[in-house]
Amino acid sequence: MKRTRCAAVVLAGGRGKRMGTAVAKQYLMIHDKPVLYYSLDTFEKSEVIDEVILVAGKGQIPYCLREIVQKYGFQKIKAVVEGGTERYHSVWEGLCALETAGWKDGYIFIHDGARPFINEEILQRAYEEVLKSHACVIGMPVKDTIKIADEKGCIQMTPKRSLVWQIQTPQVFSAELIFSAYREMMQKEKELLQQGIQITDDAMVVENVCGCPIRLVEGSYDNLKITTPEDLEIAEVLWSRNGKKSSNEKSGEKS
Ligand code: C5P
Repeated sequence: MKRTRCAAVVLAGGRGKRMGTAVAKQYLMIHDKPVLYYSLDTFEKSEVIDEVILVAGKGQIPYCLREIVQKYGFQKIKAVVEGGTERYHSVWEGLCALETAGWKDGYIFIHDGARPFINEEILQRAYEEVLKSHACVIGMPVKDTIKIADEKGCIQMTPKRSLVWQIQTPQVFSAELIFSAYREMMQKEKELLQQGIQITDDAMVVENVCGCPIRLVEGSYDNLKITTPEDLEIAEVLWSRNGKKSSNEKSGEKS
């Protein structure tokens, strides 16, 4: 089937304040491996992804190299770089590392390292879509009714449920589009902050800067982001159900 080159930027630069643990959430364990291991393992085995840039937290590059890259023998990770204060700063660092490595074309998959249950089917669906549209994000239609609140905590409006999606990662763009959108956003950062715009995902960068259409691609309700302690309990259940055990046993951890 192969195809256009694809790189992944995997984000592990957050502190995970909402988890309330001393260790950042991406290094907490699901069964016997860190949260971050699982998505990197999917990218390592993927037919879609050629190279990976791992974005680590401040001062965590040596830890990531030793406890993640070397320990599990990930060959596709070409660089581990330090992230920034906000998620979008970390993405920018990852994109700069790709540019430095000579990436000018192809597609870039930006993924939260705190989402362990990304799988090959989702990567393939995203790849098929981005070939056609140059910009797509993974998500799922919401199951609950969503309300938009005002500043006082009262309901302001109720969007039509069939049009509301919960957004996940990866978010996938042509290299040209995402490099130029991020570059422009970083130049306009102060202005956006003054307008009260908080950039919480990559699609927002493209929406704010280029306004080009971004397709939604179905992910999975399992593709959760580990954020609070309950998520870790759910992840253990999903890990058992998905038979991660057998696939990990085959992957041959280096010790
Ligand atoms: O904080 P949030 O849950 O939105 O983080 C999503 C992903 O972005 C996580 O994998 C986290 O490690 C990463 N992140 C980052 N740099 C930051 C903040 C978050 O790489 N400054």
